[in-house]
Parts: sequence; structure tokens; C-alpha cells
Amino acid sequence: MDDKDLGADLANVLIPEDRLQDKIRELAAQIDADYEGRDLLLVGVLKGAVMVMADLARALHLPVSMDWMAVSSYGSGTKSSGVVRILKDLDADITGRHVLIVEDIIDSGLTLSWLVSNLQSRNPASLEICTLLRKPEAVKTEIDVRYVGFDIPNEFVVGYGLDYAEKYRNLPFVGTLAPHVYGGGA
Ligand code: 5GP
Ligand code: MG
Ligand code: MG
Repeated sequence: MDDKDLGADLANVLIPEDRLQDKIRELAAQIDADYEGRDLLLVGVLKGAVMVMADLARALHLPVSMDWMAVSSYGSGTKSSGVVRILKDLDADITGRHVLIVEDIIDSGLTLSWLVSNLQSRNPASLEICTLLRKPEAVKTEIDVRYVGFDIPNEFVVGYGLDYAEKYRNLPFVGTLAPHVYGGGA
């Protein structure tokens, strides 16, 4: 993808790279303070969380371990159903460990809520969530998200790990797609 294509595909830059990186450093400082003296396991949710995981882990001063899960929501429509299938489970046993789930975005929160109860059943010492982005609907759910980067409007965003049909994950910023890219409609 060259710059010309990028310019045509994106409606606008919602969060530029420097604001993302400032926020990641801010979240890392809070996490460093909160988990001081404890062993922390970061659990990234593939694939969207790869960028935030990589940058957050490097911004932390704490020594951390990193593990990954890949999950997929069942369901025919475009909305997640809340019924989730594990595509890749954790390598590590999290019993008695301090676990921080690292997410790219929370929309309905259904996937995350399933993930939280799944991981909670493995008896970690603690379980918290860090998400870079949160949409308005997620605020209404019961999930208690300890670390939130940005509350964003209810728009479809791409970049910094987030895809549309597996594209745009490698953009260093978060942007909104031009309507013609996903079919010209809403
Ligand atoms: P939830 O179960 O919270 O409704 O769905 C969360 C998942 O939906 C995210 O991990 C992400 O994969 C996808 N998602 C939700 N909103 C967006 C968005 O604006 N852009 C992209 N690229 N994916 C999104
Ligand atoms: Mg995600
Ligand atoms: Mg996706």
C-alpha cells in the first residue's frame, strides 16, 4: 500500500501516532505503579492487540511475561454473539498469577466478557483489562476495565493493529475508513 492509496482509503486520522504513543506511556506508568513488586503476565488477544502489546510492553519498566490468545466469535451476522471459540489458548498456566488482558478495542464487550469468565475460572491471583480503545456501547456493559486509552465515537476504525478485511493493521495511527472502501453505505 503506498501513500496515494492510503489517502484515498482513509476518511480521517482519528488518533495520530504521537498521541497513541503518549497514551501508551501514560498507561505503562500507571501499570508500573499498580503492579510494583509483583510478577505480571500480559495476555494479548490476537491479532488486533499486537501493536498495543508490543509498544506497551516496551514502555513498561516492570519485568513482564507475555502470552497470547486467539478467539473467534460464533455467529452469522456482523455482530459478535458472545459465544466464543478458542483458536489458540495460552501457553502458560495462569493459576495464582497476576494477569492483565491487553485488548485493541472494546465494542459490545461480549467477546471480552466471555474471555474474562474463561480466564477467571483458571484462578489467577488477579485479572484486569487494558484496552487502547473503547466504544460507547462498551461503557454500558458490566465489565470493569481498569485501563482505557481512548473513548472513541461509534465509528469503524482501522490501523495500529485493527483491520478491515485483514488490511490496515500496519498503520501507525488509528483512522476511519472512507465509506467507498466498505461499500459506500453506512
Ligand atoms: P465486541 O465483542 O466487543 O463487540 O468486539 C470486539 C472485537 O470486534 C474487537 O476485538 C475487534 O476485533 C472488532 N471491532 C470492534 N469495533 C471495531 C472497529 O471499529 N474496527 C475494527 N477494525 N474492529 C472492530
Ligand atoms: Mg481485540
Ligand atoms: Mg477484525
